[in-house]
Amino acid sequence: MTPLIRKAAVLGAGTMGSRIAAHLANAGLPVVLLDIPQEGAARSGIAAQALEALKKSKPAAFYEPALAGRIAVGNFDDHLPLLKDCDWVIEAVTENLAIKQDLLARVAPHLKSDAILTTNTSGLPVASIASGMPGDLRRRWFGTHFFNPPRYMRLVEIIATPETDRSALDGVAHFADLRLGKEVVFARDTPNFIANRIGVFVMLEALRLMQAEDLTIEEVDVLTGTAIGWPRAGTFRLADLVGLDVLAHVAANFPRSQSADDPMALPGFVKTMLERRWLGDKTRQGFYKKEKDAAGNEVRLALDWKVVEYRPASRPKFPSLEMARNAERLRDRLVQLLSGDTRKDKAARFHWRLLSALWNYAADCLPEIADDAGSVDRAMCAGFNWEMGPFQLWDAAGVRQTVERMKAAGEPVSPVVEQMLEAGENWYGDCGGATYNPAKATYQAIPEVEGIARIARYRASNGVIRHNPGASLIDIGDGVACVELHSVKTAIGEDVVRMVTETLRPDGDAVKNFSAFVVSADTGNFSVGANLMQLLLAIQEDEWDEVDLMIRAFQRMTSSIKYCPRPVVVAPFGFCFGGGAEIALHGARRQVHAELYMGLVETGVGLLPAGGGCKEMTLKAVESGVTATLPEHFRSIAMAKVSTSAAEARGLGYLSPADRVTMNRERLLHDARELARELVNSGYAPPLPRTDIPAPGDSMLATLRLGVRTMREGEYISDHDAKVANRVAYVLCGGKVTPGTPVTEQYLLDLEREGFLSLCGEKKTQERIAFTLKNGKPLRN
Ligand code: NAD
Repeated sequence: MTPLIRKAAVLGAGTMGSRIAAHLANAGLPVVLLDIPQEGAARSGIAAQALEALKKSKPAAFYEPALAGRIAVGNFDDHLPLLKDCDWVIEAVTENLAIKQDLLARVAPHLKSDAILTTNTSGLPVASIASGMPGDLRRRWFGTHFFNPPRYMRLVEIIATPETDRSALDGVAHFADLRLGKEVVFARDTPNFIANRIGVFVMLEALRLMQAEDLTIEEVDVLTGTAIGWPRAGTFRLADLVGLDVLAHVAANFPRSQSADDPMALPGFVKTMLERRWLGDKTRQGFYKKEKDAAGNEVRLALDWKVVEYRPASRPKFPSLEMARNAERLRDRLVQLLSGDTRKDKAARFHWRLLSALWNYAADCLPEIADDAGSVDRAMCAGFNWEMGPFQLWDAAGVRQTVERMKAAGEPVSPVVEQMLEAGENWYGDCGGATYNPAKATYQAIPEVEGIARIARYRASNGVIRHNPGASLIDIGDGVACVELHSVKTAIGEDVVRMVTETLRPDGDAVKNFSAFVVSADTGNFSVGANLMQLLLAIQEDEWDEVDLMIRAFQRMTSSIKYCPRPVVVAPFGFCFGGGAEIALHGARRQVHAELYMGLVETGVGLLPAGGGCKEMTLKAVESGVTATLPEHFRSIAMAKVSTSAAEARGLGYLSPADRVTMNRERLLHDARELARELVNSGYAPPLPRTDIPAPGDSMLATLRLGVRTMREGEYISDHDAKVANRVAYVLCGGKVTPGTPVTEQYLLDLEREGFLSLCGEKKTQERIAFTLKNGKPLRN
């Protein structure tokens, strides 16, 4: 029986404690947040200030500001009795064994008999923190290591001690997965656990190689960024974000070698930076720094590590890296990068030395830190945002080939990889269904966790029914098919429109053969919106009929979703902009990821939502009271507002009360399928197109336009913004008609189309589209 977690407490309201508390509140729990008492009247000042800071933190710690109300603050002297009804208590105070032990000794008598107590330590031995605790409590004690910032970083490492009770461990793992949306990786009680052990090793290795190869800070950041599937921040931008002091702390925990060139030793210039407190973002300077020049412009500086002073940052380019960027898939880029001539090409030499060091180190650590290669890869992907973990990267590069290359160059080779190569060719076997376990010297199946599946799994098991470059139709089992979006940036172009419309045709095969549909994707974002490139080309060629047809086709697609005889559940996540949001708005229901950035953003490129987006928002307003809600919807569209979470998307009116939120991205597809099946089982019937919508009409239009004029006069918006906003207002109000005039959905769609076409003819709109396509951000003109 897994324990119930209804209320939680966090001990320590610092960087991690306060943000963990915020995320527990995001998950719906009431939370007690305690820290040391202060002198004077405001005894709980530290925790109270932390809560205030949380409300303003960027990126936002809360899904929506009101969630701060779930956190009660207090101090360790006066408020330990508040712990009496907490099911889970997380210790997150200073990384100091004695401080943690003293505090926990004071806390223990206040816990209820089945409370679970865990630590967020990043490197202290979990078992030794608990050495003074009563035996009964030690069974409910283990490590839960969150990554910073806890709302956004997916990894939680769970570290059992020999005494931990399995059901307490499983209960928290289950909660972290379903309610906190985390990737749970079980780690051993070894220094720095898994992700920091590997991640900080790589950072130190990159530092060493930078010195050995005479590279600059910026060069190493480019080499250790997206080219090899690591975050754009690279090594040193990441170090600035994390804090050099935190990294030094982690580095100090590493098992040390006695040799003169101990790989875990910090180079001299890093020690100087620590002495000068050039710790990164928290002290406003680290490996990088921003300064204003004489003209008041911001300039970015980078550290010249040889003299430990700043100089203007450069944008380095490596020819081999530029070439490799043409390969879309990481495995192709990797093979290309590693095939460079290491005698002539600095980049190739750096990559080879860094990756071969990483691979050998990960293999050497493997039996000590984790059961199998898969756990290490999962930890690195969820904890450091790598596209592939070290063993996946090694498989992609070819393990046997690279080992032979190491041997030929007289480089060391880990005995663990030699052992693996006796059992097979790769760290993963059985088409990715098993990973190598060094303790057993064999492959073991990766257990399938119920509810966790991406579309790729069904694609791989012969699920593809039809396919085009932008989208596929995939059988995801139980009578449900998924329209998978997979165009570049999941932009919605002609091919996606065709796939959705044909699939959902009432008399089509798919509707005959499946009882429900899901629309989703496996990509980083659900959709950036309509394919602007196709639109701009048509505009530039003066193909106005073509533009008209495009809009009609888009509207037919969204209507096919809404009126499909089978329920269509849309499962968006990440960016869900413009046309993507319109697809979502037309679903029978939405099953959304908690991290949902949804908005009708067309005005940003000088257009208006014309795939039924305006129409749906008018319908919502008519249902819930035009006067109260239409101005809100108008503001959201006119200002291209984007939600910063699913909770905010609900507040903006994009989600209905029956729509559901999934915390764990990996569970989204399954949850959407379950929702679709529920709709089938409850006798789903599609809505009928409405022909009697009472138009908000001219009085509301006058109100909205007055608001636009005020904004323009106050110079909050440009002339073109005002023109676009007025056009949006016209469509939302159903034109200049008497309020209450009955109009049809098709009438509203026609207004959208006319408005869109007319805005396409505007020079400033065309400039906005071209700018956004080139720069990926909006132009204010
Ligand atoms: P922090 O310094 O920001 O906060 C520590 C908190 O402990 C402070 O609010 C402080 O008031 C309190 N504290 C100080 N002395 C105390 C004492 N004697 N008794 C009780 N409380 C005391 O630290 P942090 O970064 O939030 O780290 C907290 C824990 O989380 C540490 O164990 C750390 O290793 C771990 N951790 C940190 C990160 C990170 O990126 N910062 C990531 C993962 C884990």
